[in-house]
Amino acid sequence: MPPGRTVLVETYPRLYSADFPREDRSPDQHDAYATASWLRDADKDGRLAQALAPDLSESNLKLAKHEGWILGVACCAEPTPQAPRISAQSSARSDQGTTRPGYRNRNGQVVIGPTGLLGTDHNQLVYHLCCGRCGLNYGANGSDIHARKCPYCGGGRPGLAI
Ligand SMILES: [Zn+2]
Repeated sequence: MPPGRTVLVETYPRLYSADFPREDRSPDQHDAYATASWLRDADKDGRLAQALAPDLSESNLKLAKHEGWILGVACCAEPTPQAPRISAQSSARSDQGTTRPGYRNRNGQVVIGPTGLLGTDHNQLVYHLCCGRCGLNYGANGSDIHARKCPYCGGGRPGLAI
């Protein structure tokens, strides 16, 4: 950052907190310490500039312009195809728009897109979701999207592999 300039960013301390010894700080104090330390170090070695210009797909850029983007999160890339894949129609709720990329449910969970993976519920596919609060990326059955809660910050069930 140029000297004398101010930038407001949303961070995800879990990305950096393990890189710094906790010492006698409380969890919240350590999150603040680790975030400030990471910002200082990353500004010096160029990682901050990279984090401020994440390499996002066109669909994720649209999402980021609408929802914002957590500094340092680079994991919302397009899902990589993995076996097994099926070509069946996705979910019973697809007609309600809950599987559409960009759909945000009442718990702030945002659909990134389908993964092509088979889900754990009958006749369901796994969708890539991103928590609008903490940025966690995880998978969920298409039928669960409308009510899904974040596994990390929302008390939801563990996410499916993506
Ligand atoms: Zn979350």
